[in-house]
Amino acid sequence: MSLIAGVGSFTLGCCIGHILPRFPYLLLSRTKGFNTRFPPHPEAIPLSPYLTQRVLHMRMFYWMGLVVVVLPLAVGLASVRWGDATFGFGLWIASGWYLLNRIQSLLGGQAPPWTRDMATELQIILNQEEYSDGCCNWTSPYWQVTGVYCVNCNSKLSDMARPDLGRKRSERRPFGFIRLLLSDGYPMVSLPDEEE
Ligand SMILES: [Zn+2]
Repeated sequence: MSLIAGVGSFTLGCCIGHILPRFPYLLLSRTKGFNTRFPPHPEAIPLSPYLTQRVLHMRMFYWMGLVVVVLPLAVGLASVRWGDATFGFGLWIASGWYLLNRIQSLLGGQAPPWTRDMATELQIILNQEEYSDGCCNWTSPYWQVTGVYCVNCNSKLSDMARPDLGRKRSERRPFGFIRLLLSDGYPMVSLPDEEE
């Protein structure tokens, strides 16, 4: 096999191994029917039980990758053994890296983009605003890119930056997908080119 073909099939293996385990959160909730309860993508989302549930769903999709990753690992192994070894090696590198990354987040380091604590905090803010005295008389907490704000009186209710929430993204087709791959679902505010 020529060098170029080798590099090509290694890269292809890496790409597939990188994207496949991320499929659940990249695709599962992007269809229109899933998002009727929420305003379209770049807009702020009002806090509601649906939003809390969405955070928990995204969390589930995120961890679902640990099941999906078995596929590229198995295909990669078979490829190295019986098929195109460079392709299989690429698959292994990318999906093995994914696996290490996820296991590391179980032990410590950066928390996943969606956590149970996040859902709990949203629900606590919502309950506080609804049932005890909130920031103003017509409290309406919205999750904006940099945190939770009351749109009525502009007070900041939480510092939690908003991760991707599984809505269909407003960018044109390949760009939203690429952006998601790059950010891995984490809030975009940490990336310097984000404007909203
Ligand atoms: Zn307020």
